[in-house]
Amino acid sequence: MAPEGNEEDCYCDADDDDYESYYGTEEDSESEYGGSGGGGVSDDDGDQQAMETNDDEDKERGEGYDFETEDDVRRCQDEVTARMSELLSVPRGFAAAFLRHCRWDAEQLQNEWFSDEWRIRGAVGLAPGRGAVPTALNDRPLDCGICFDRSAPGEMRSAGCPHYYCHGCWRGYIAAAVGDGPRCLLLRCPDPRCPAPVVRELVDAVAAGADRARYAVFVVRSYVEEGTSKYVRWCPGPGCALAVRSRPGSRPYEVSCRCGHVFCFRCGEDAHRPASCDTARAWAAKCRADGETTSWVLANTKHCPRCRRAIEKNQGCNHMTCGAPCLHEFCWLCLGDWDKHAGNNYHCNRYAADRAEFTGEKAQRRQGRASLVRFLHYYERWTAHAASLAKARQDLDGLRCGGGLDGFAAAVGVPPTELDFLAEAYAQVIEGRRVLRWTYAHVYHLDPARDNVEFCEYLQGEAERSLEQLHDCAELERNKLRENVAVYAVAYPAGYAAGKFAEFREKLSNLNLVTRNHFSKLVEGFESGMAEVVS
Ligand SMILES: [Zn+2]
Ligand SMILES: [Zn+2]
Ligand SMILES: [Zn+2]
Ligand SMILES: [Zn+2]
Ligand SMILES: [Zn+2]
Ligand SMILES: [Zn+2]
Repeated sequence: MAPEGNEEDCYCDADDDDYESYYGTEEDSESEYGGSGGGGVSDDDGDQQAMETNDDEDKERGEGYDFETEDDVRRCQDEVTARMSELLSVPRGFAAAFLRHCRWDAEQLQNEWFSDEWRIRGAVGLAPGRGAVPTALNDRPLDCGICFDRSAPGEMRSAGCPHYYCHGCWRGYIAAAVGDGPRCLLLRCPDPRCPAPVVRELVDAVAAGADRARYAVFVVRSYVEEGTSKYVRWCPGPGCALAVRSRPGSRPYEVSCRCGHVFCFRCGEDAHRPASCDTARAWAAKCRADGETTSWVLANTKHCPRCRRAIEKNQGCNHMTCGAPCLHEFCWLCLGDWDKHAGNNYHCNRYAADRAEFTGEKAQRRQGRASLVRFLHYYERWTAHAASLAKARQDLDGLRCGGGLDGFAAAVGVPPTELDFLAEAYAQVIEGRRVLRWTYAHVYHLDPARDNVEFCEYLQGEAERSLEQLHDCAELERNKLRENVAVYAVAYPAGYAAGKFAEFREKLSNLNLVTRNHFSKLVEGFESGMAEVVS
């Protein structure tokens, strides 16, 4: 559903260095908004907005968008089509063809039309002398140009040109075109020498009901997918039919759709903040190119760095604990001691040429594969954060919809309504994992000679360290708390569970605050300091 073809010109026209063009946002007060108010409903669901930390930022680049259904989009399109039809004194079907030729930009159409009407008429197949009507009936008996059957007056049609066909042949001709996809919008008269366009009026007059409906869908989709409008695009989420329209003057670049899909408003790909669209694209290309050779890092099994026992990861956070009697606590990603991940000396995120003896990086480097090894460092973290994100989302779903919150509330003896802080922490974990993930794509593309890699890694490390603690607390400590309460509540006085729960709540809430703070600094730092890292 993502408009692959024209996204270059359409959405990614960033070329200077300021923040605006980092995401390629642009403000344009003209046209599109005209009479839109097409029933867009604002989305008040705040879950995904955990990142938004201050009002200023909200105003600057907060939500700033509304959702529209296909009907809303159609109304908007119908309105501009009707307006142009009247202004240019042409039938609506032709107005739509002209508009489509100008990528649904009414202003451009007016300019082109009034500077050279015949050029644009010619471009859609309306030669001089043609194009008075979108379709005509025969006024005398004629032979159909396709099946050669003779039909009485009024039983054949043309696309406004002199080539008449019977209704049955038209129906088949249009059905085949519609079955072929959106190119049916470019359909011409069946006579191979005739460029007369087949437009809406003709389709509506002769096509079967199902084909008319499909044609109508292609028309409305074209408005969004082929339009120059930077203000509206379809949600690319699987099965989602919503469009997203940015509000006048706002600059959305990351959209949380109601279907749950989070995507970049500019390029339509999965959300990749704080990496720019170009960086995300370059990274995706790199992953495609080197995906085969790197797939081994996706293995879910590693070995405990102390006892070499195979450890499988089935949790979200990276704090691993080996089984008894080893009980060694280590980091899944760098295999370093977990202790080193809490203090001030957090280095897990940094690519160090002399590290990671356990991952075999040294040996590989000796074989002259330094660039691959470097890529692997970032690639593994990029994929690991995605896996952790998926696990966190699964946990959050289980808490919300799978009765998890109620169960936990009952276990610790509080009403479920007092557990909002837990869902909030998870929302932050999810958002944070997504952001961190893309910081690795970003840092990978940095140029040490030009960019402040050190500073980026510092921000990234701080954010990651706090996120790991937050995730650890929300996931592992919550489970531990629940177990402990079950085990000890009988033996201890009544206040045991309440006390432990209060401790847990305070710790998690504090970690959430700290993490939020780190991430707003991280995003701000990444987005302001470096405009574009891929050239
Ligand atoms: Zn026929
Ligand atoms: Zn013709
Ligand atoms: Zn959606
Ligand atoms: Zn993008
Ligand atoms: Zn071990
Ligand atoms: Zn680590």
